[in-house]
Amino acid sequence: MERDNTYRHILKWGDKREEEVGHHMVTLIKEKFGLTDADFREKYLPGTDEVRLEKPSLLKPAQADFLRSISGEENVLTDDFHRTQYSCGKFYGELLDLRLKRVPDPPDAVVSPRSHDEVARIVAYCSEEKIPVVPAGGQSSVTGALRAPFGGIALDLTRHLNRIVKINTVNKTVTVQAGIFGPALEAELNRQGYTCGHFPQSFEYSTVGGWVSARGAGQASTGYGKIEDMVVALKAVTPAGVIETRDFPRTAQGWDVFRLFSGAEGTLGVITEVTLHIFNYAPQNTRLAAFIFRSFEQAVESMRRMIQSEYGKPHMFRISDPQETDIAFRTSGFDGTFPDRFLTGLGFKTGSRCLMFVTVEGERDYAGFVMGKIKRSARAGKGMYIGAGPVRKWLAQRYSSAYLRDPLMDLGIMSDTLETAVTWENLLKVWSAAHEYVRHRPRAFLMIHISHVYENGANLYFTFLTPMEKGNEQQDFSRFHSGLVDTILASGGSISHHHGVGRVLAPWMESHLGRSSIELMAAVKRHLDPNNIMNPGGTLGLQ
Ligand SMILES: Cc1cc2nc3c(=O)[nH]c(=O)nc-3n(C[C@H](O)[C@H](O)[C@H](O)COP(=O)(O)OP(=O)(O)OC[C@H]3O[C@@H](n4cnc5c(N)ncnc54)[C@H](O)[C@@H]3O)c2cc1C
Repeated sequence: MERDNTYRHILKWGDKREEEVGHHMVTLIKEKFGLTDADFREKYLPGTDEVRLEKPSLLKPAQADFLRSISGEENVLTDDFHRTQYSCGKFYGELLDLRLKRVPDPPDAVVSPRSHDEVARIVAYCSEEKIPVVPAGGQSSVTGALRAPFGGIALDLTRHLNRIVKINTVNKTVTVQAGIFGPALEAELNRQGYTCGHFPQSFEYSTVGGWVSARGAGQASTGYGKIEDMVVALKAVTPAGVIETRDFPRTAQGWDVFRLFSGAEGTLGVITEVTLHIFNYAPQNTRLAAFIFRSFEQAVESMRRMIQSEYGKPHMFRISDPQETDIAFRTSGFDGTFPDRFLTGLGFKTGSRCLMFVTVEGERDYAGFVMGKIKRSARAGKGMYIGAGPVRKWLAQRYSSAYLRDPLMDLGIMSDTLETAVTWENLLKVWSAAHEYVRHRPRAFLMIHISHVYENGANLYFTFLTPMEKGNEQQDFSRFHSGLVDTILASGGSISHHHGVGRVLAPWMESHLGRSSIELMAAVKRHLDPNNIMNPGGTLGLQ
């Protein structure tokens, strides 16, 4: 275990244990990228040095004293480690910076308020003093949304504002403080017979405030909805005052003001409380099924027919494209086995076959009925049912598979993800354009899956792997990443489906949304945040 004051301690995702890349994966990497054991002898840019910041905290002593007078001495931190820890999220470029011992955008202090009222006092004071405020939840942002290019304070919601306020079993809602992490919320809901229904891959280390602010989607979003479908009401502190909305089911009284905060990424204010819909928790009823298709096109067509049939929806609904399916088969040791040869003999061949995973949750008869329909649709679409086992296996590592990025970076492998929303009409075009783009880089590998499905389209989720250009890691990544974003947008995808925009995707906002939309967003921000203190410096394309 490394010391806990190092860059590595900050950059590591997961529970900080050192993960190993499995034997099958190492073989695959060597083969795909032409690497040898010698390339893996030492960890590349391990980031094991103690954190040191060159930029001193620019908070004036009187300002720091005032913040301490609000939240207490122990809740205002200005040391190098904490300022570094709160200078970033988990975007690949930020992890690379940490490995290179660079901390370009640290806040001047980290403040952990103990109540909504303290947040209100801090925001009012910071607005008066023109001190930037960057709200921070679990810091799992993968879009550079947590950087503090103008310094100021990182406002940590997780230390104290992390409780369930009320589970309302009559209205079937839960009200929470925004800094509560997924597992704490879900454990208590399960105990009372409910589930939150929102399970991003980052579930273990992300918060309700972050889910709403980044406008995320969980792995079962096809059934439960995206986070903005779940929010009923919220309370937010803005420099212009507190906004508190009520928990009516639906209204017709002008705009739904609370919706402005979903996707605002901290630029309008600090969400302190959220009321969410909750769902019945009955895991014993969940039906699981995996199918295999001979091609991506067939799998996609079948998925479209299933979601548009109106017989009920899956909750988790995924297709891995041939490249991702191939990796799944190889790294699980399935390749070359008898079942593999059997499938190949039936025409489900490596390089074109695709896996589809489905879960249906809810009341027992409903889940059985919908899964029965799905199985019939899959058969009609030339898919083959291959049991529930692969889905069970996938669910067992649904969060921990992401822990692999750090050991891959230790091997000198660039590994990042992008995601987009597409209509059914455009899906195959975006999918093939992305593969075409990545094919142009020697020794690069792209896998794509669909994991959030709607009547009129779906998302595409891209994971790329390629050896780093050693000595030029950051520029090389930036060029490759930007080119992939350009390709996705040019072929008809959106900037994001659920990761958000942050500072990383901000440069594409105006051309994608249009000038009038950006001006409208800027006008709302000017009204709520006249001194531009809320997460300033580029997030969402706002200055
Ligand atoms: C390995 C990994 C897997 C991921 N998988 C998914 C996934 O499956 N689905 C998905 O949607 N996302 C995913 N993400 C992205 C990220 O986890 C989500 O965006 C998540 O919702 C962020 O929550 P957080 O609490 O970590 O927020 P943070 O990262 O701390 O903040 C995110 C943004 O929200 C703002 N913010 C946070 N809290 C508040 C608040 N209370 N008030 C106002 N603004 C606030 C911040 O200023 C920032 O702009 C993944 C990230 C990682 C690292």
